Amino acid sequence: MAVGLPENVFMTTVNAAASWCRKNSLWPMPFATACCGIELMATASSRYDLARFGAEVMRFSPRQCDLMIVAGRVVMKMMPVLQRIWLQMPEPKWCISMGACACSGGVFDTYAVVQGVDRFMPADMYVPGCPPRPEQLIQAIMDLQNKIQATGTLNGTEFGLRTQPMGPTPFDRDEMWRVEDAALQAKVGGFGV
Ligand code: SF4
Repeated sequence: MAVGLPENVFMTTVNAAASWCRKNSLWPMPFATACCGIELMATASSRYDLARFGAEVMRFSPRQCDLMIVAGRVVMKMMPVLQRIWLQMPEPKWCISMGACACSGGVFDTYAVVQGVDRFMPADMYVPGCPPRPEQLIQAIMDLQNKIQATGTLNGTEFGLRTQPMGPTPFDRDEMWRVEDAALQAKVGGFGV
């Protein structure tokens, strides 16, 4: 005789259950360096209420966070700091690149500004705009939650991706100095300073 499950019982996998818990309890690490940071703050305010999506617990210790939100432009000298904070966050972790500056350098097409943080660390979501509205950041978080549920968090896929070329590569300080020297040489040659 076949025995059916009661209506109040459901079955799932450990991976799906863990992913469901993780996606609904994201703890963001706010890395707000410029005007986009104001929109990030607005997203957590009562008007938009990021708490509705379980992602309002901003923490300023990377070891307590699993969602990096880069909001604003990042200069070359700030990149090692950002990268160190990212590497101090435990796996599994995700990153949202918020605003034109974080995604591509924005209007700051200059050697001093990083032309997209994904050159030095992986980004899972990109939020366009200058600045993006809070609704856009909320949409990115919802999309990320869907991605987390779809890809899972216990099967190691995120670790596999991190070791690929898209993963973080050590910041090359020598390269930074070479770029600065070249720019300085060009300035000396061009303007006769
Ligand atoms: S994208 Fe626009 S609003 Fe955001 S940091 Fe850059 S200049 Fe400021």
